[in-house]
Amino acid sequence: MPRHGFFLGGHTLALATVNGFLITAFVGCASTPISVETEYLFQGPTMGTAYRVKVVSPHLSDAGKSRIDQAIRRELDNVNAKMSTYQEDSEISRFNRQRTTEPFQLSVDMIEVLSEAQRISEATEGAFDITVGPLVDAWGFGPVKLDRMPSESRLAKLRQSVGWEKIEIGAPATARKSHPATQADLSAIAKGYAVDRVSQTLAAIDYGNHMVEVGGEVRTAGHGPTGNAWRIAIEQPTLGRRAQQGIVRLNDGAMATSGDYRNFIEKDGARYSHTIDPRSARPVTHRLASVTVIHVSCMTADAYATALMVMGEDEAFRFAAAQDLAVMLLVRGEEGGFTERVTQAFEAFRRS
Ligand code: ADP
Ligand code: MG
Repeated sequence: MPRHGFFLGGHTLALATVNGFLITAFVGCASTPISVETEYLFQGPTMGTAYRVKVVSPHLSDAGKSRIDQAIRRELDNVNAKMSTYQEDSEISRFNRQRTTEPFQLSVDMIEVLSEAQRISEATEGAFDITVGPLVDAWGFGPVKLDRMPSESRLAKLRQSVGWEKIEIGAPATARKSHPATQADLSAIAKGYAVDRVSQTLAAIDYGNHMVEVGGEVRTAGHGPTGNAWRIAIEQPTLGRRAQQGIVRLNDGAMATSGDYRNFIEKDGARYSHTIDPRSARPVTHRLASVTVIHVSCMTADAYATALMVMGEDEAFRFAAAQDLAVMLLVRGEEGGFTERVTQAFEAFRRS
């Protein structure tokens, strides 16, 4: 069941960093730098969007660059081979094709992502739900464009196989569907997971100062090119015009954004977002334009961003504040423009 553009809907962030040579420290006699660091950029397409990795390091040889390049691609290929609904032979595609309620053997990586997805579904009372794929398709965000609204009876039929509790994770590394037609769609969590994996791998090969971004989901480690915390821009949720809503400083942390402005359809004057409210089986239509979540795990931030998008501004704000999540909501105003709603935990990242 290929998704439209697979992990479509990412947001490219403008990164407030400076390219080129940056001297981080001078010690000792007059002009002997002990640490001259450069920012190296690695980028390319992945998951229906793009990745961008910045590594801050003293001079890198060609061998060093190619080692980093290969490490990044290996991690991204691994996530794709397991979690891409675009690849017919991926683990997730095989799981989706299995139309039985028998346990299905899965890799440790898949179990990790599925478990986190289920944990967030439970925490958000089903706002986050990886089984919404058939509804995503019915509303025209899958391979077939929308020509008319899905009927009540069609939605009711599709809902029989939708519901996060219809996927059960079992020991030792299996999952089973309680309805044979249930499908899993990891689009709203796998990009974040891929970012975590790339970041962990870079740290493991001793590149501890880096920024990893896949389709707008970001994770940073160590320091940026100026020797200070990484500065990450939050984009305004507008199409066509690039503007910043603000900047956060991240030392070791992740940030994910969900929005209604990159992937939506307009029908009879109404805007339908690719985020589906599993409770109504309909795309969300409220005034919440984007949700940004900062968390130690990019996978968690990614999933929460979608869940909060489903909740809408008031429920999302209450939930985020109660859970002490670092969240910024941008709410669409009457005359264009946005109103910010920021939790206390988020404020800490805006202070310089
Ligand atoms: P965004 O940047 O807006 O979060 P993503 O690509 O990360 O975009 O996630 C959106 C995708 O997640 C949709 O295209 C759909 O495949 C899937 N999705 C939609 N609604 C939900 C939901 N309630 N829970 C989990 N996944 C969802
Ligand atoms: Mg997302």
